[in-house]
Amino acid sequence: MQNLLIKNATIITVNGKNEVIENGSIVIAGKRIKDIGPAEEIARKYRIENEIDAHGMVAMPGLINGHIHTIASLYKGTMVGFGFEKTAGEDTALAFRATPEIMLAASRLAAAEMLLSGTTLANVATDAITFEVSSQTAEALGQAGMKAFVQTAIADIFGPTDYDADAQLAEAEKLVLEYRGKFDGRICVSLGPAGDISTSLKTMRHLADLAEREDLVVHMHVFPRWPTGIFSLLFRGRSPLGLLKAGKLLNRRLIAVHFLAANNGDIKTITKAGVSVVHCPSVWMNAGIGPKHWLPIKSLYEAGANITLGTDSCGGWIEGSDMFTEMRNCILMSNFLYGAGSLKPVDVLRMATIKGAMALRLENETGSLDIGKSADIILLKLGRLLCQPTSDIPAMIVYSASGRDVQTVLIDGQVVMRNRELLTIDGGKILEAASLAREELYRLGGWELRADSATPPATSWLERYPNKGLAKWGTRWAEFKRLFEKQEREP
Ligand SMILES: [Zn+2]
Repeated sequence: MQNLLIKNATIITVNGKNEVIENGSIVIAGKRIKDIGPAEEIARKYRIENEIDAHGMVAMPGLINGHIHTIASLYKGTMVGFGFEKTAGEDTALAFRATPEIMLAASRLAAAEMLLSGTTLANVATDAITFEVSSQTAEALGQAGMKAFVQTAIADIFGPTDYDADAQLAEAEKLVLEYRGKFDGRICVSLGPAGDISTSLKTMRHLADLAEREDLVVHMHVFPRWPTGIFSLLFRGRSPLGLLKAGKLLNRRLIAVHFLAANNGDIKTITKAGVSVVHCPSVWMNAGIGPKHWLPIKSLYEAGANITLGTDSCGGWIEGSDMFTEMRNCILMSNFLYGAGSLKPVDVLRMATIKGAMALRLENETGSLDIGKSADIILLKLGRLLCQPTSDIPAMIVYSASGRDVQTVLIDGQVVMRNRELLTIDGGKILEAASLAREELYRLGGWELRADSATPPATSWLERYPNKGLAKWGTRWAEFKRLFEKQEREP
């Protein structure tokens, strides 16, 4: 077991007391943090030759991306400025065309983006029903040295597939059996009901039992009100949270993504149930949903809900899947909506680290720099003229830093990026394969890509779904649109 010393760093522990150690050192033994403290004290106690001198740098826990679609790393520059309905529709119509080769190339690019911007653990939302496609993400992130949760999608009503419920559950169970704990325990599997509206109660209950039996988390998009709440009521006769409750999914295992426009009753329900919520500010800013539909982060925070951050599909619109962008957009939107200082920088830092670990039930393993935890550590060099001079490091990280400031990344004590050089993967080869995969994906999707524009086919995206039963709804698109617009007008 090799020891490694990171010395002379400003250490942002994100531990229970949010301790900051100026000029501190971290001792790593194998995969774990063996000691942490003032540099002088550590120097007296240990003699370690293998060291990283982090003078002038910040050491902090690796960032945890609470929700990412790896396919979106191929979307760059193509869904800019689309509204909600067009974004969600075109995104899924494209994502479900991904072949195993396309998903592998996209996920490798997403892994490179995440490592380069300091993400060590990713909670991946699926874009595929099949084991064959979903397992590519596990392979890509596992080979890159990352930690990740992967899943298959389960959507047996209104789903983008002709697979029946049993076939979909079989694919999900196969991923659980073959990938849980693979890559030296770095890859885990979650369950992925595609949404309240598109998963039957019978299937939800089956998934709830499976989660309990195999000790898994359930990671899904949840919209208690806007924009799809009305569809649950219309087509299923229950509210979205009512469906989840009846499906036995409303519990501590659930990671509910987006939770837009939730009201006080919704907040009370999920807080009581111990559900974690993932906030993805950038995608909703891009979709221009407006303040009325925003995640009520202040009320959720005050109610004591576990809130984490994710990039969602923003690899498609913003530079890579950079969690620093999410931290900055989270705090700026909170200042904008609820008044300056409504969230503190350290609150947001916790959302991007330890709270992500809590959602994934890994808070005793990672998410903060504590003795005994995994050595998932990033080193930031905040020496850029644009970031200096400064003194309040948490404020600096949340308001000013970017993924480009990340110098070195360790996962389970292994250095996977050193001085911005990726050590586990070849960025050049990844980009080459991703460019070809992107061309192929957009060709399959029927898009027209030009140097100054990206245009999807003129038909409704529902008509382009592989599920023929669902495609017929494409011809009734005008009705769906009226429903969306009606909700928009309602106070
Ligand atoms: Zn998503």
